[in-house]
Amino acid sequence: MNPSDLEFDLRHIWHPYTSMTHPLPTYPVISAAGVELELSDGRRLIDGMSSWWAAIHGYNHPVLNEAAKSQIDRMSHVMFGGITHPPAIELCQQLVAMTPAALECVFLADSGSVAVEVALKMALQYWQAKGEKRHRFLTLRHGYHGDTFGAMSVCDPDNSMHNLYKGYLPNHLFADAPQSRFEGEWQPEDITSFRQLLLQHHNEIAAVILEPIVQGAGGMRIYHPEYLRQVRKLCDEYQILLIADEIATGFGRTGKLFACEHAQIEPDILCLGKALTGGYMTLSATLTTRHVAEIISQGEAGCFMHGPTFMGNPLACAVASANLKLLSDNQWQQSTQSIESQLKAELLPLKSHTTVEDVRVLGAIGVVEMKQPVDMASLQRRFVQHGVWIRPFGRLIYLMPPYITRSEQLSKLTNAINDVII
Ligand SMILES: *Cc1c(COP(=O)(O)O)cnc(C)c1O
Repeated sequence: MNPSDLEFDLRHIWHPYTSMTHPLPTYPVISAAGVELELSDGRRLIDGMSSWWAAIHGYNHPVLNEAAKSQIDRMSHVMFGGITHPPAIELCQQLVAMTPAALECVFLADSGSVAVEVALKMALQYWQAKGEKRHRFLTLRHGYHGDTFGAMSVCDPDNSMHNLYKGYLPNHLFADAPQSRFEGEWQPEDITSFRQLLLQHHNEIAAVILEPIVQGAGGMRIYHPEYLRQVRKLCDEYQILLIADEIATGFGRTGKLFACEHAQIEPDILCLGKALTGGYMTLSATLTTRHVAEIISQGEAGCFMHGPTFMGNPLACAVASANLKLLSDNQWQQSTQSIESQLKAELLPLKSHTTVEDVRVLGAIGVVEMKQPVDMASLQRRFVQHGVWIRPFGRLIYLMPPYITRSEQLSKLTNAINDVII
């Protein structure tokens, strides 16, 4: 790549959460195949991130490429207002079939954050239609639900986003994050804060929203399924809707197809995104029950008030549909299981390092939490020297590799972590 192109990038292009005056380095990637990213200087990096949970089957997958190519020759996009098309119908059939039976009605949107906005709006319209004033959401500390305003308002309140937009964000309710570890013992007092908030405010709460089992970008915390079961029970008792944000955890990442299955509970509203298209393009879905959909449709507006321009984009739907077909052979179960065993074998011993606070593994997710925040730029440079792509944040160095990652490739990722933390 031309050095002046990188210069242009630095001067003119925003990157995620990156300063325009003191930008961190970016690495030019010119192609990707399987689990490897190719840099413009010819170096190949083993990808430990699946491009933020998305590329579960790896890059440049022949089946997904073919789905995109054959769809693009028919039509890339057509409006969804008053029009429907085979790719959307086929995808929604698959989604309805693979999610809990009660979740029958699918809203297709553009990104994870928008899927969360849609879920929140569904809950608000549901109560509005029932003639009740309920405008607040109950959620968990350390949660992450996206970067748009509604989504941000239910993200962890202490991670500075709330301070930045103070006065602009609605004031929701935040229960203490679960402390009981996934594989540890359940501590009954874990649910106390949640229960108290629910008891106190149930008349104003429209819905509970949370990430089941794994809290992702808010700290990569993996918690006890009993917490989720208790949440479901309390929501049932007080007839409050439960929104499961499975945008990160969905489609096999935690070792179950959906993380809710670890607790054998079902949400009233389910948000999906990220891996939905196998990391090919942006698409998300919000599913709900016929009951919720019917109440909303009986409300003042007579319909659900949302309709993105690119709703149900045929190209994205065709790729998503092919991606779900790849999943349906259930190879992901075997793959995430062996990735989990290997991550446990190769990462858990790092717990003994004096600089390491904690190590946790679930499914194809491995997290090394350091005692101190890491220097992202220098660590990233060292990872690239090791031939791997791992992007840490805060005190967290974590892996969520594509399911197709082979054992020796995974070892390369864990060895690199081992080397940089010493
Ligand atoms: C990434 C993420 C989102 C937001 O998705 P975008 O596609 O980035 O808008 C929402 N919820 C969870 C749990 C996520 O991990």
